[in-house]
Amino acid sequence: MILIDGKKISAEVKQEIAAEVEQIKKENGKIPHLAAIIVGADGASQTYVAAKVKACEQVGFKSSEIKFDENITEEELLNEIKKINQNDDIDGLIVQLPLPKHISEDKVIETITPEKDVDGFHPINVGKMVAGLPTYLPATPAGIVELLKRYKIETSGKNCVVIGRSNIVGTPMSVLMSRKAEYGDCTVTLCHSRTKNIEKITKEADIIIVALGWKEFLTGEMVKEGAVVIDVGIHRVKSDKTKSGWKLYGDVNFDEVAPKASYITPVPGGVGPMTIVSLMQNTLLSAKKAIYK
Ligand code: NAP
Repeated sequence: MILIDGKKISAEVKQEIAAEVEQIKKENGKIPHLAAIIVGADGASQTYVAAKVKACEQVGFKSSEIKFDENITEEELLNEIKKINQNDDIDGLIVQLPLPKHISEDKVIETITPEKDVDGFHPINVGKMVAGLPTYLPATPAGIVELLKRYKIETSGKNCVVIGRSNIVGTPMSVLMSRKAEYGDCTVTLCHSRTKNIEKITKEADIIIVALGWKEFLTGEMVKEGAVVIDVGIHRVKSDKTKSGWKLYGDVNFDEVAPKASYITPVPGGVGPMTIVSLMQNTLLSAKKAIYK
C-alpha cells in the first residue's frame, strides 16, 4: 500500500508556484492577488479563509480578506462583488460559503465575473469544464487529479466510483474522471443517497473517491484488493488522546481499507492540503492571463 502524501505534494506545488511568482514579478512587477469575501462570523469559514490567506503568503501572492457583517443585504454584497470585478489589481475572487440564509449563493456565484472565479463555481466555468475547454477547475476535484498525476496512477479504462454528487466535489469529480484526457478516461459511476446496493458497486471499483460527509462510511468489505482510495471527508471529533483535543476522521475507515488498497489518501494530510493549492494554481492562471493576454 502506498500512502498518498498530500502534504508533501502540496508543498512541492507551492514551491513551483512561488518560483513562477518570482519570475512574473521580475518580468512585469505584477503580484498575483486573491481576494476573499467572508460574511458573518462563522468559525469554520474564518479558519478556512485564514488558511487561504496563509497559503497566499507562502507562494508570494497578495491577498485581501474582505469581511462583512452578517446583516449585509444581498444587493449590497452583489455591489461589492461588482466593484471587485472591476478592480484590475485583483486576479481572483472567492466568496466563502455558506452565506447567511437571506443571501442567494447562486446569485453571488453568478455575479463574480467568470474571469476571476478561481473557485470554478460560475455556471460558465462549470460549462467549460464539462465541455473540456480550458477553465478554472473546482479546487478539491482538481487537487485530487493533481495527486493522481504526481503519483502516476493509471486511470485510463479503469472503473471509478465517486460517492457524493455535490456541486463542489462529487459532480465535478465525476466529470474530470470521465473526460477524454490523461488522468481521466475512466468509466465512472456516480453514487448518491438514492443509490441501491452501493457495496456491490464499490467492490467492482478500481478507483473510489469518497465524498459524502459520513464518518468512516467506506469499510474494508466494500473494497476490492488493489483499489485506489481517495478520501475527501473531514470530520472533527473531540479526543482526549491528541494534544489539540481533536481527532480528524475521513469518509473512509482507514484501518480497514488501507491494507487492501494499492494507494490511499490519509485524513488529515491527503486531499485537504491539495484543495488550497488548486485555488492558488487558479489564481496564478488568472494573473498570467491578465498579464499575457
Ligand atoms: P454534501 O454537499 O453534503 O454532499 C454529500 C453528497 O453525498 C450528496 O450528494 C449526498 O447525496 C451523498 N450522500 C449522502 N449520504 C449518502 C449515502 N448514504 N450513500 C451515498 N451517498 C450519500 O457534501 P460535500 O460538500 O461534497 O462534502 C463531502 C465531504 O467532503 C464532507 O465531509 C466535507 O467536509 C468534505 N470536504 C472536504 C474538502 C477537502 O478539501 N478535503 C472539500 C470539500 C468537502 P444526495 O445528493 O442524494 O443528497
